[in-house]
Amino acid sequence: MRPVLVLADHTATDRSVCRSTCALLTLARRLGPPMAVLCTPADAAGVARLGRFGATTVATSSRTELDEHPAAARVELLAHLARRTAPVAVLVASHRLGQEVAARLAARLGSGLVSDAVDVRLDAGGPVAVQSALLGAYRVESSVTRGTPVFTVRTDAVAPVAAPVEPVVERVDIGFPPGVRAVRRIARRPAGAGLHPDLATAAIVVAGGRGLGSQRSFGLVGALAEALRGTVGGSHTATELGWCDRRDQIDQLGTIIHPRLYLALGISGSVRHRAAMQHAETIVAIDRNPTAPIFDLADLGVVGDVHRVVPELLAEIRRRRATR
Ligand SMILES: Cc1cc2nc3c(=O)[nH]c(=O)nc-3n(C[C@H](O)[C@H](O)[C@H](O)COP(=O)(O)OP(=O)(O)OC[C@H]3O[C@@H](n4cnc5c(N)ncnc54)[C@H](O)[C@@H]3O)c2cc1C
Repeated sequence: MRPVLVLADHTATDRSVCRSTCALLTLARRLGPPMAVLCTPADAAGVARLGRFGATTVATSSRTELDEHPAAARVELLAHLARRTAPVAVLVASHRLGQEVAARLAARLGSGLVSDAVDVRLDAGGPVAVQSALLGAYRVESSVTRGTPVFTVRTDAVAPVAAPVEPVVERVDIGFPPGVRAVRRIARRPAGAGLHPDLATAAIVVAGGRGLGSQRSFGLVGALAEALRGTVGGSHTATELGWCDRRDQIDQLGTIIHPRLYLALGISGSVRHRAAMQHAETIVAIDRNPTAPIFDLADLGVVGDVHRVVPELLAEIRRRRATR
């Protein structure tokens, strides 16, 4: 049977398989037997986790090019496996590296690409990617009419479901052409002390808006994010005012997030902001205006002054941690 290639993500620190890969495998199983492509040596824990989510094969390569030239080397590896296995489809997570790899791979294979799928299914004509459009009001279904379909998937929109199998591990040793070295990764550092650097894939996001009132008060956002082990974000206004970095901007033109928990502090909930955070599993909003539009989306709303509510919340989190 033709496999479905799944590009696996691993953490930079302990090289464990990421949740995003479990989500991709969950979708891939609907299209065919998943072949996880692991760009780090396969240890027992990694293989077990991939098998738990249904990878029938784990193709692994430990070439240093995969760390030093991540995008180009992944494209080479996937193109090699695609030529060899004629897969039903290739699934890649929709983060920055994934988007680059998928676009280059599709160009290399002469295939069609669908990006930011939130679901996939198989119909008589082949794999279909489902995208969410216009603030979630429409579901757009697309199929690829040329070559091997390459889909990038918003993995935070997919709940991983286990389907354990015993995978076959295959070591792939290919040579990389000199062109792979055109871009080299020279450093990889966390963006802030103890904070999750990647807003797009963070499980917990605490964001602040104009309601914080000043750069100094915006520190409350960082303090709460740190207490909850989450990531800091900001509204368009907060980034315009320079209270947070441009890359922390949560809106249609900035970062689109799908965390499990989203806390909005002093953010009114403009249309463009809502478009980027409305897929959070649980939304908590703190705003002093009871008619702020953010409350229409919130699962839990606190009407109050952030300068009072947030310190109380921090104190309560610390108290509970201390008594645990
Ligand atoms: C030229 C221009 C370009 C724009 N481009 C974009 C864009 O690219 N993307 C985008 O998303 N938006 C854009 N906007 C719109 C605007 O920036 C957004 O509406 C922005 O998201 C609003 O940010 P905010 O929610 O932080 O601020 P506001 O809408 O001002 O909301 C602040 C909230 O804080 C509350 N508040 C105030 N004080 C307190 C307090 N002490 N405690 C608790 N709550 C408090 C208020 O009740 C209010 O609800 C643009 C606007 C303009 C004029």
